[in-house]
Amino acid sequence: PIDRLGMFLNSYQSAAASLEKIAGLLAQAPSVPEPVEPRPLPEKEPGRPGRTVCFEGVSFGYRTGGEVLPAFDLELPAGQTVAVVGATGAGKSTLARLLARFYDPSAGRVLMDGVDLRDLSTAELRRGVVMVTQEAFLFSGTVAENIAIGRPDATREQIEAAAKAIGAHGFISALPDGYDTDVRKRGGRISAGQRQLVAFARALLADPAVLILDEATSSLDVPGERAVQQAMDTVLRGRTALVIAHRLSTVEIADRVLVMADGRIVEDGPPGELIAGTGRFAALHRAWREGLA
Ligand code: ADP
Repeated sequence: PIDRLGMFLNSYQSAAASLEKIAGLLAQAPSVPEPVEPRPLPEKEPGRPGRTVCFEGVSFGYRTGGEVLPAFDLELPAGQTVAVVGATGAGKSTLARLLARFYDPSAGRVLMDGVDLRDLSTAELRRGVVMVTQEAFLFSGTVAENIAIGRPDATREQIEAAAKAIGAHGFISALPDGYDTDVRKRGGRISAGQRQLVAFARALLADPAVLILDEATSSLDVPGERAVQQAMDTVLRGRTALVIAHRLSTVEIADRVLVMADGRIVEDGPPGELIAGTGRFAALHRAWREGLA
């Protein structure tokens, strides 16, 4: 029976991994246990952007392998934009998944303004922490519905305001039925860059204190790239953000860069400081600059 439990958990985890792809779009996540007695987040001080996030001695491993994060400590001050870089398998996505509470740590805790994520009601957690994957898919439905996925009660004015702030209003208005265009029918005509803008408008409308961005690796044309970069600046402002970064321009706007290797942070500092150093980030940055990475 224990073997079978293992098999069940394995298939559960791969199901959770695919669910997570959908959840990223829905600004929701696979279900994790609901606390018996949920604790509320403290009142946000007016004018304070985002919330503080703390990883305290967090260990985590997937059922199928060894420990991915061994006793991990990290503090993200409220309002900070943190870019995470590192090779495939370094643990960047795992860090993001723990912050979004797609999984719970096997030891230690993840805190938001001092409250363990496990003590937050799912509703409060999902309002507070949103993960956006930029391999942005569009769901069947209209453009407006796609933007409002994380805030189904949003008015048309709020949806348009988010799209305008992100710089998506122009192309949406030019679609045959504007915001009421069925994305499945027009899907082929909405470019990769435009899909990313819709994903940002979605995040802006959801307005979480903590935003996790898994940056797209697909390359865009230069105007598309610039539009996405500007939209990213807008959506990151006023919240705590963890960005799994694949672009030079993204790490350059970050307040702080974390370089991960084998589940550990091997470098941590403002991008300018790391670039001026002799470590891995300086080398990566040079390679990026020369278009080699
Ligand atoms: P990165 O995002 O930096 O590429 P990940 O966090 O995805 O790194 O992966 C860290 C380690 O965890 C890797 O060894 C990877 O193989 C493993 N891993 C990631 N996701 C899963 C999963 N769903 N099930 C089992 N192992 C996983």
